[in-house]
Amino acid sequence: MKEKTKVLLIICDGLGGRPVESMGGLTPLEVARTPNLDRLAANGISGLMDTIRPGVVPGSDVAHLAILGYDPYEVYTGRGPFEAAGVGIELKAGDIAFRCNFASVDDAGIVTDRRAGRIKDASPFDDVISAIELDDAKVLFKAGTEHRGALVLRGEGLSAAVGPLDPKKEGKPLKECKPLDDTPEAARTARILNQFSAKAREALEAHPLNEQRRADGKLPANAILIRGAGVVPHIPDFEERFELKAACISGAAFYAGIARSMGMDIVTVDGATGGLDTDVGVKITGACELLDKGYDMVFVHVKATDNLGHDGKAIEKAAMIERIDDALEAMPPEGTLLVLTGDHSTPCEMKNHSADPVPILMSGPGVRTDAVDTFGERPAMTGGLGRIRGIEVVPTFLGITGRAKKYGA
Ligand code: ZN
Ligand code: ZN
Repeated sequence: MKEKTKVLLIICDGLGGRPVESMGGLTPLEVARTPNLDRLAANGISGLMDTIRPGVVPGSDVAHLAILGYDPYEVYTGRGPFEAAGVGIELKAGDIAFRCNFASVDDAGIVTDRRAGRIKDASPFDDVISAIELDDAKVLFKAGTEHRGALVLRGEGLSAAVGPLDPKKEGKPLKECKPLDDTPEAARTARILNQFSAKAREALEAHPLNEQRRADGKLPANAILIRGAGVVPHIPDFEERFELKAACISGAAFYAGIARSMGMDIVTVDGATGGLDTDVGVKITGACELLDKGYDMVFVHVKATDNLGHDGKAIEKAAMIERIDDALEAMPPEGTLLVLTGDHSTPCEMKNHSADPVPILMSGPGVRTDAVDTFGERPAMTGGLGRIRGIEVVPTFLGITGRAKKYGA
């Protein structure tokens, strides 16, 4: 029997943009020199994708749920559980998970840096934070990429209806956690979080790594900003749902967490960082090896395009897209459909996500090629995929690869 076409799904975070005046009215994606993406577009089918629906500005979590075939309005419970799954915390039903940032606060409790001087590795703090004892809940904590981390509270009668302790801005004090509804569970969880926050500050303040950071003239990571409360969601298994044995390669733990929540295997490759210094080439090579080893689909996530959009760095965003393009020279692998898109637009002048649809291309066996021969926001407007929604991406490539089921007789 002929082997079925496999799928390599590459999501470049925040890929889409808007015309930039100083770039001659082109977007970073349009201005970037992308011979490989253009070749893939010429040999493939392009279109635009509204990740959620027109007019909705997607967060990265709901955007990925949709592109991977799940209606976020049905399964999404908050960002925290994905952060926790991404750093490798085994979650149980009833757990409440939060996303965290290590931050720097001054003696008055004012947040001076929300990323603790962009600390590279906060994992040395894991043990002291995990050892914090609370009156009514067990603490599970793990640091993630750079200043990020995840906190899980495990215990009876907890609620995700609690406000953030993160003031979201520098120059403001750490917030007190407030319950968001009138239930005793919310009040209890808020009290527990406030206790955790105070104990975490004490433990971090005294930690040798922070003494070292101060001695080196760096900002201490002496507080944990907590937000994104979510009860562990029920997400049906990806392989059962779509009959695709799937793996994920992502430098950023959060995206691996989304994939792990769907039951995908998480594969780490050296050099994949989730930052600007990431090696896109090793991710792609790693993905091809996994496809050779028997996976039907590999999802590769590239984060840096979004970071540069948030920083408003259009030239650097275009350069990052060129680096991604360099890694696509041998694409698509034989017998594989390459699907490449973004999870949303992050226009540099907005320094934030926007509701603008993102270009998507599919290139490989079974594709009905259209007339589009360059990859970009505006060329994609005329492509054969038309304008689809995120949740239609998986069904669309299942159809192209001959994996879709017949409806009716
Ligand atoms: Zn995103
Ligand atoms: Zn973003």
